[in-house]
Amino acid sequence: VLSAALFKARYEDRLNELATTDPLTGLWNRRTFFQQLEQEVERTRRYSGCFSMLMLDLDEFKSVNDGYGHLAGDQVLLRVAEVMRVNTRSADFVARSGGEEFLILLPETPIEGGVVTAEKILEHVEQMTVEFNDQEIRITVSIGVSTYRSGESIKEFYSRLDKLLYEAKLRGRNRVVTD
Ligand code: GH3
Ligand code: MG
Ligand code: MG
Repeated sequence: VLSAALFKARYEDRLNELATTDPLTGLWNRRTFFQQLEQEVERTRRYSGCFSMLMLDLDEFKSVNDGYGHLAGDQVLLRVAEVMRVNTRSADFVARSGGEEFLILLPETPIEGGVVTAEKILEHVEQMTVEFNDQEIRITVSIGVSTYRSGESIKEFYSRLDKLLYEAKLRGRNRVVTD
């Protein structure tokens, strides 16, 4: 009975992991990120706190896949995920929101801290070389960063970040843009 219970517990853990994380990078998935974001907005409303968010998109990532192959692209994604994990705090929430796009939630963090975190990640990604089949791949990232404004909807906040990221791309990529 005990071993059946242990088996069930482990099975449930595994199911939960599959439902909440991205299988390639081990980061939180999009759905879990948005649940966390909703909670954070609620918490901010109730306790009049603040939080910041980063929206990141790898630059010219298609050319990595085209030039080195999809497996190389996956290796780059893994290494970028590692950079984001290492350069954030355990209370932060790092997610892969789609292909080569990531979101990072920074609880209790005003805009200055958000920008510092974004710059740190940007610099580490820029310095990094990914070795794949004796080749060295380099990549850069564009980042939009902002702080939640009390009263705005998640949709409004998200679309604000989306515009900042778009502006980072327009201004030449490999940069952090904030409002
Ligand atoms: P930009 O600087 O404007 O962001 O250019 P980009 O090439 O990064 O942007 P685009 O959105 O055109 O391409 C994203 C590419 O990401 C498309 C696809 O080849 C790649 N991609 C998405 N998901 C994965 C994945 O899981 N693994 C790999 N290897 N590539 C992926
Ligand atoms: Mg993209
Ligand atoms: Mg991209």
